[in-house]
Amino acid sequence: MKSTDLIGHLRNLYKENNLYSSIILNSKKNETNLEVADEIIRNIFCIEHLEAQKSCNNCQRVIMHKNLDIIYIGDGATAITKNEVQTVIQKMSMTASENNGNKVYVIANIENLKVEAANSLLKFLEEPPARTYAFLLSNDRSKILQTIKSRCKLFVIQDNQENFENNIFENILFSKNQNSYLLAAQELKKISKKDLIMMVEESYSRTVIKNFPKFAEATLLLIEDLKYVVNPNLSIDNYFITIAKAI
Ligand SMILES: [Zn+2]
Repeated sequence: MKSTDLIGHLRNLYKENNLYSSIILNSKKNETNLEVADEIIRNIFCIEHLEAQKSCNNCQRVIMHKNLDIIYIGDGATAITKNEVQTVIQKMSMTASENNGNKVYVIANIENLKVEAANSLLKFLEEPPARTYAFLLSNDRSKILQTIKSRCKLFVIQDNQENFENNIFENILFSKNQNSYLLAAQELKKISKKDLIMMVEESYSRTVIKNFPKFAEATLLLIEDLKYVVNPNLSIDNYFITIAKAI
């Protein structure tokens, strides 16, 4: 679903008093997840107008991240700790401090929530206090614990595929040059595995299938290796050797 459509859908559910209490937003970009979450949260707290005007005091407090009934955890890189989860539960179990009685928590990169910390959250997700909403953000829904996923409503946000700039991986492919393919392996090994996976996955869906169908199978294999092989350097070498031969 496009982010604008999703915002419209969730806004309507909220107006009808039917908003899910626990929502997972999945997009490849953290900013997109946060944009959607913040816009719905603004709607949840706005008491003056529900549409796009952002002038009321409640809206401003949400936008500035100053609303005391909203808590954000997760930095996107490190694992979310049991302590952090307990802080959330404690805070959400207290009476709301702001004027409309709603409470919201946002956990970034919910895939970083490991079993021990997740166990504290499960019961809370199942029986949330009244007017409490969870926004769990993710870049990769396949890595979210099944126990968490099954207790939430998942929305996959379609990334805007128009007006994109080629990423480094795509620039290399488009060069169609054997030497640059062989040098590329060295360049890509310097990138963190997580970023590399994201980049190659993005390229696979938006350019590889369309422009380099001959590379599609090898690219899928590369993605698998990046995800599951401990040291994928050899896979990166092999990939570029294969495609250098194929052009
Ligand atoms: Zn407002």
